[in-house]
Amino acid sequence: MKDIYQSADWKKEKHVPAIECFDRVKKAEAFEIKLSVGKEIAHPNTTEHHIDWIEVYFLAEGEKFACQIGRFEFAAHGASAQGPNTSTMFANPEVVCSFKTDKAGSITAGSYCNIHGLWQSSKAITVV
Ligand code: FE
Repeated sequence: MKDIYQSADWKKEKHVPAIECFDRVKKAEAFEIKLSVGKEIAHPNTTEHHIDWIEVYFLAEGEKFACQIGRFEFAAHGASAQGPNTSTMFANPEVVCSFKTDKAGSITAGSYCNIHGLWQSSKAITVV
């Protein structure tokens, strides 16, 4: 799977999911994670070209297997009976979810553009 995900700095490449949360979180206390695509450089988000989903995983230090925190689908892409890009309703690929852990580790987000494929980024957190 890792071979089909592309990676880059989300500030320079519009498809890379931005992961925004505290670097240090309190043990066993839920904290918010904001996930978005196009934060620094806007992604088109049209009927023909859009982000279908973002998913997020957590790999705790010392563990072999990651757990999925969530998967978020974006379904409004401007389509209507009048044709592509005519509804004026477009999902913005951005979501806030919440998570807690006793262990430090790495948050990894993946995103899917219907034209430009799979992208990923990661962010380490520590637990105090
Ligand atoms: Fe794209």
